[in-house]
Amino acid sequence: MSGGAILTINAGSSSIKFSIYTPGDEPAEQLRGEVEDIGDDDARLIIESGPGKGTDIGIGKADHTAALGAILHHAGDGLGGAPVAGVGHRIVHGGIEFTAPARLDEETVDRLEALEPLAPLHQPHNLAAVRAAHEAFPNAIQIACFDTAFHRTHPWVNDTFALPREWYERGVRRYGFHGLSYEYVSGEIARLAPELRHGRVVIAHLGNGASMCAVRDGRSIASTMGFTALDGLPMGTRCGQLDPGVLLYMMDHEKMSPAEITDLLYRKSGLKGLSGMTNDMRELEASDSPEAAQAIEYFVFRIRRELGALAAVLGGLDAFVFTGGIGEHSAHVRREVCKGMEWLGISIDETKNAENALELSTGATRVMVVKTDEERVIARAVNAALRA
Ligand code: ADP
Repeated sequence: MSGGAILTINAGSSSIKFSIYTPGDEPAEQLRGEVEDIGDDDARLIIESGPGKGTDIGIGKADHTAALGAILHHAGDGLGGAPVAGVGHRIVHGGIEFTAPARLDEETVDRLEALEPLAPLHQPHNLAAVRAAHEAFPNAIQIACFDTAFHRTHPWVNDTFALPREWYERGVRRYGFHGLSYEYVSGEIARLAPELRHGRVVIAHLGNGASMCAVRDGRSIASTMGFTALDGLPMGTRCGQLDPGVLLYMMDHEKMSPAEITDLLYRKSGLKGLSGMTNDMRELEASDSPEAAQAIEYFVFRIRRELGALAAVLGGLDAFVFTGGIGEHSAHVRREVCKGMEWLGISIDETKNAENALELSTGATRVMVVKTDEERVIARAVNAALRA
């Protein structure tokens, strides 16, 4: 391989997902994998190098820097002996100013660090990986790709809260997240169904994190997520939309600290909190507990509610697209979401739904299942920077 490889990094508090690509007109994926349990004594490196081909290696106690070292050491085959020429990072928050991928020099990292209070559970880990990557790959270009950037095209009404105006100026806005997924899926819709390129499309990204986005002419005009990645749909462990009065009650009456409330809303709520069991949709679907069924019912109810709202924002609906782990694989959730939605032109073929087929619709509105690939969006940004 000449010219070096592209490494993409998606770092959380205890994991780093990564993939390796060869640059070219379109970057070519070589392998992908994950380091799990960073911070514990027995972190693991899992490498997928093809369908059914996987390696699981114990790497002992590892921080983000050691995890990157292990990736480089063990995943070196995917590099074919080439050095890492470019590293692309998923960065959850780009604030107001970052509307496109950015070169990660010292000044940019400082500016992104200033946004940490806006995404306290994600941004610090993203930036820890950036620092570790600068150490591990001092000669590589480092590029940041933002989950907020795709949504900076929102009109003002979908960007603001009805607070005194100075809060908007101070950055208290509806940023929206999952932007890399929406960018990829929008691109796929334009490729697979060019007639939808200028259409009114709602994309539902349903994974552990979940949100929905209204897209017109390939641009985001509204999202269910707001100032933080808590708003909108209920998620694996996050609550989704909540009356802010609940927070006041928890603070004033229950005397809960900000840290306790943060833990409750981010880690103990959503599907896990409602079911009292798990955040894993597969386990909930397999369970016969009434609480598990209710957790799914609430998840489905909020998706349907937001679908109606986003269709109204778009002035109609040409396509409704499912993505993310649940969106791509749960025939049950898709069936329940689409039930009785004929008024929006939505009806689906049950056999195709059971097969997770690309096209499900039997009505006027297209209903599609598109597998997301956030890593590829990052790899494309690094590829473009390497070729510039
Ligand atoms: P993340 O947001 O962490 O990337 P994913 O997009 O991988 O998460 O989605 C994880 C969710 O997808 C989990 O709730 C998991 O149970 C669910 N999921 C994966 N496969 C299936 C399936 N076959 N049926 C139902 N749910 C599934």
